[in-house]
Amino acid sequence: MARRFFIGGNWKCNGTLKSIEDLLSTLNGADLAKPLPEVVVAPTYVHLAWVKSKLREDFAVAAQNSWIKGSGAYTGEISPEILKDLGIPWVILGHSERRTLCSESSQVVADKTKYALDKGLAVILCVGETLEQREAGKTFDTVAEQLKPVAGALSSWTAVVVAYEPVWAIGTGKVATPEQAQEVHAYIRSWLTDNVSPEVSDTTRLIYGGSVTAKNSAELGSAKDIDGFLVGGASLKPDFVEIIKSAP
Ligand code: PGA
Repeated sequence: MARRFFIGGNWKCNGTLKSIEDLLSTLNGADLAKPLPEVVVAPTYVHLAWVKSKLREDFAVAAQNSWIKGSGAYTGEISPEILKDLGIPWVILGHSERRTLCSESSQVVADKTKYALDKGLAVILCVGETLEQREAGKTFDTVAEQLKPVAGALSSWTAVVVAYEPVWAIGTGKVATPEQAQEVHAYIRSWLTDNVSPEVSDTTRLIYGGSVTAKNSAELGSAKDIDGFLVGGASLKPDFVEIIKSAP
C-alpha cells in the first residue's frame, strides 16, 4: 500500500507573535503542487489554537506533548481530551528532548501514546539513539527497546507515525546520511513485521528527523523506507516550504 509522504514541523519552544505571523504568511502563501504530502506543524501550546485558526486548511497542527491521563488535578499539564476538544488532531510523543530533559521513560511514552490514541488523537512517536549508543553498536537495540513497550500497549497502529530521530543529529547540523537513515528505517520496518504484524510494518509511515534542510531533504526522501520528515530548526524558516516541495 502506498504510504502518503508526511512532513512535520516541530517548532519546539520557539516563536513570538510576530515571527509566527511571518511564518504563517509564508506557509499560507506557498504555491504547492498537488497532491500535497501530509503537512503537520507543532507550535507551542500557547500558540496552538491561534495557529490552527490561521493556518491553511490543507495543513494540520500537532501538540508537542500530552498528559498521560485525562483532565483533572494535574497542574501545568494538557490532556488529550482538551486537545481533542480544541480540534487538534496530532500530538508528538517521546521526543528525545522530553525523554532526556523531562526523564520520560519508554514505558511512560508508551502509556501516553496509548492514552492519546484511545482519545482519538494521532501520534508522531519519536525514537532514536544517542551518539554513545551508536558508537557502542547499540542503535538497533535502543530503537527496539523504545518500541517494545509501545507494541505491548497498542492494539492499532493506524494513527501512528514513527519518527526516527538520532539524538546526535538533532539540532546539530550533523544529518544522518541517507544510507544511515535507511538502514535504521529498514530495521524498524522489519522489527514491526516481527513484533507487530506484516501489515502494520507495510502501512506505518517511518519518518526521519535530525538536521533536515532543503539541501538534504530530496536525497533523504528518496530512500526506500523514508516516508517523510520531522523537521525542527528548518521548520521555522521559509526553508520548510522548500522541504515540502522536495517530497517525492
Ligand atoms: P532539527 O530537529 O531539525 O532542528 O535537528 C528535529 C527534531 O528535533 O524534531
